[in-house]
Amino acid sequence: ADVLRRIDELVRLVPDYPKPGVMFRDITPLLADAAAFAAVIAEIAARVDGPVDLVAGMEARGFLIAAPVAVALGAGVLPVRKAGKLPGPTAAESYDLEYGTATIEIHPATVPAGARVLVIDDVLATGGTAAATVALLERCGAHVVGLSFLVELEALGGRERLAGHPVDVLVAVP
Ligand code: IMP
Repeated sequence: ADVLRRIDELVRLVPDYPKPGVMFRDITPLLADAAAFAAVIAEIAARVDGPVDLVAGMEARGFLIAAPVAVALGAGVLPVRKAGKLPGPTAAESYDLEYGTATIEIHPATVPAGARVLVIDDVLATGGTAAATVALLERCGAHVVGLSFLVELEALGGRERLAGHPVDVLVAVP
């Protein structure tokens, strides 16, 4: 469809960022294009199957997509933040990075028992962040109805780490 072609055109490839050997996908040109951004939000929302109570956005680019998708779906927004950003009480989940570990946090008081949550980020890479988000949400009593990404980097195998949950991506890069 037209929207998928616009993603190809407007996601900028940046070689060797943030470190040598990495091909970074920069979504800022897509965010800046009013028509393309609106089309992307509408497409993500249209592909969601069934009711959603909360849309969880992963810091920081996930926030930019999660918030308008939530409005489109009539859902609330749940910021999934890097450790130390939320005043608390928080629930936390740590996960392994290539070097070291990272921790994400939410405010569990904003997640009602059994809440149907859609998880959103810009790029699915290794899936470590998304898998930790799913684990954290489920531990807090949420029901993760699915995950949506703009771009999937298939070679990094993120989808396998999210087995058992519906994963929707607008553009998959081999
Ligand atoms: P993960 O490896 O799937 O956990 O990705 C880690 C985080 O980095 C996620 O929030 C991704 O959205 C982000 N990320 C990884 N690669 C890229 C990229 O090429 N462009 C933008 N974000 C990326």
